[in-house]
Amino acid sequence: MSALYFTGRKINGDLMAIDRCITSEDRRLTSENRAITSEQIKNSASKLRQARPAYEELIDFYEEFFLAQEESRQRLDIDPIEIELDKLKLKSDNGMPLIDSSHFKIDMEQAEILLKKICTLALNKTQKLSSAAKKILQGLSENRFKSEDIFNSLLKDGRTILKETSKIIDVSEEELIFFAFWAIAPAIRSGAQQLEFYLSKDKSGVKRPDVEMNTSDLESVDMENSDLESSVQRKNVEGEDTLAGIGLNVAGIDLHSDWKKGYCPICGNLPQMAFLNQDGAKYLICGFCQHQWKTSRMGCALCQNKEKEKQHYFYNEEEREYRVDLCDSCGKYIKLIDLRELTRDFYPQLELLCTLHLDIQATEQGYASVLQTISKPT
Ligand SMILES: [Zn+2]
Ligand SMILES: [Zn+2]
Repeated sequence: MSALYFTGRKINGDLMAIDRCITSEDRRLTSENRAITSEQIKNSASKLRQARPAYEELIDFYEEFFLAQEESRQRLDIDPIEIELDKLKLKSDNGMPLIDSSHFKIDMEQAEILLKKICTLALNKTQKLSSAAKKILQGLSENRFKSEDIFNSLLKDGRTILKETSKIIDVSEEELIFFAFWAIAPAIRSGAQQLEFYLSKDKSGVKRPDVEMNTSDLESVDMENSDLESSVQRKNVEGEDTLAGIGLNVAGIDLHSDWKKGYCPICGNLPQMAFLNQDGAKYLICGFCQHQWKTSRMGCALCQNKEKEKQHYFYNEEEREYRVDLCDSCGKYIKLIDLRELTRDFYPQLELLCTLHLDIQATEQGYASVLQTISKPT
């Protein structure tokens, strides 16, 4: 079976489906549709500065940092990750994420440019990271390591090269991971956006896929109950079998609504934050690829425990947009933001940073953070 694929384009925060055979040009996310995010960052940062003056210095630094990332994202040139139909079916039926995080593709040239840029920002703005940033920039200019090697190592080799590099340039592993991860984060996010097409759930105009399953493992699969059924149809374009993605919910984020698991349907990593949308529906945001998926409103979003006596939450009266969900079953907490109470643009990364006081409150109560910026490849 040939490799078949879909893709989507980000249009004003919504995904637009392309229901035809996808050309390689189409498979690249267009830059003009992503520019809006920079305005959202600026709006969010400016309002957060007023609302949370204690975080002003942090916001000043990270605003530039996130703007640099968005700028980089617009210049990325990455081929979409393709998933063969039989693998997609198998994953869909077994509740497996679409890919392992090690399979994300990186635009190495752009990632190095971004690495240098964020190191330079850190050099000028923060005491804490400036020493590491200086050593990374020095190491790069003296060819003591290749950025490509540490980016690959971060995703693929159990971080062996990254650990060695940290010793060579005398930067702690955590600091090197911090810079390296944020340099490849735009590529990971773009890869996830392209993969979102595989999760399409909208049934409008969808025909049951007439898919041949050659492997014995798949012969007994009930296509009627498959997520795959609603997401694909088989078409014949110029005599070639192709799959075409069917319209995602253009009105908003309503992808893969039946997933309802505590890990990302795209890459399998844990969520870093939850939010309630304007309709009160609950979503989780992946800590690795930033994908957002719908989850159940009731019970723990992480371990799915639904016993009422084990589920608690707290919030502070003066910041009603935030809530922290606590679970006595898994012992973890997750921060939740209610978009119905939010009067600024929602940029999750900034909200995460400006709620560090909630992390302190939750950990003081004995709950562990679910926050996982980077997961180790398995
Ligand atoms: Zn993810
Ligand atoms: Zn739990």
